[in-house]
Amino acid sequence: VQDEKTKKYDQSLTKSRTTFGEKLSRLLANFRTVDDDFFDDLEETLIEADVGFETAVKISDELKQEVKLKNAKSSQEVAETIIQKLIELYEQQGKGEDNQLHYASSGPTVFLFVGVNGVGKTTTIGKLAYRLKKQGKKVLLAAGDTFRAGAIEQLVEWGKKVGVEVVQKPAQSDPAAVVFDAVKKAKKENYDVLLVDTAGRLQNKVNLMHELAKISRVITREIPAAPHEVLLALDATTGQNALSQAREFKKTTPLTGIILTKLDGTARGGIVLAIRNELHLPVKLVGLGEKMDDLEDFDPEKFAAGLFGQLLAQN
Ligand code: GDP
Ligand code: MG
Repeated sequence: VQDEKTKKYDQSLTKSRTTFGEKLSRLLANFRTVDDDFFDDLEETLIEADVGFETAVKISDELKQEVKLKNAKSSQEVAETIIQKLIELYEQQGKGEDNQLHYASSGPTVFLFVGVNGVGKTTTIGKLAYRLKKQGKKVLLAAGDTFRAGAIEQLVEWGKKVGVEVVQKPAQSDPAAVVFDAVKKAKKENYDVLLVDTAGRLQNKVNLMHELAKISRVITREIPAAPHEVLLALDATTGQNALSQAREFKKTTPLTGIILTKLDGTARGGIVLAIRNELHLPVKLVGLGEKMDDLEDFDPEKFAAGLFGQLLAQN
């Protein structure tokens, strides 16, 4: 199982690795001297790979020191220094990071899923329901995205596919009322896990945040320790946009972790570095496709090995 997982990770990260690697390789191939131009180019390369502006500048600044210190001159030496620095930063920023999902010790566990439209909330809920059900857990879904009828249907479809129940109300109902019913049912009928879907429309930011706060209150009133996770879904293919979404949500919603979706479709795995360095939120799950079993726990070491390992081998 572990090997299968590694293989999947590796396959999914191939895009990130080659593009990130290719960019760095190209930079290093054109390398003549370690001067200001070189560091400008390096910053640009890192920004293009979505490590985030702050992180790119930080890496570049620290590298300037390091390259001087080590008196690195050949492109080989410089490359090694760069990659070592990236790994070091990644590890250092991740100290104390908790990538586990937390479940209640007794009674129902509640996970709340938030994020803008289209990032993959509903799909992730379906995938996670499938995984939990396979583990023998009694799983309930709440169709808290009542904004469009289509959104409710989509979750109901997942419920059918996976074989778990979905609490729903007609479109335009108060999402907090749906969640209230779902939490009551979860308690009364001894469900192990309740996964709560929410709307993510952006044109109404203040309302959305109020709505999420209200949903949270309803959950906590029924189960004081809940929600046990508030997970923000981010679409890895949207790069810097995903980062600004996260900053917005973080301001108003007490998030416990990130779900990074569509990692199979991106050439920009650098976003994981940006999330870690700038947001200080743990990535807990990654989406590697649209199918039921395309969901993995985030393994920071494996991710780093995948992303940087190839670079070390190339240079
Ligand atoms: P929501 O609006 O946040 O609930 O997003 P959805 O769950 O409806 O997903 C939006 C689209 O992204 C759908 O077409 C999903 O199939 C697709 N999607 C979600 N997660 C992934 C993923 O990990 N990989 C890929 N390739 N597609 C995904
Ligand atoms: Mg949805």
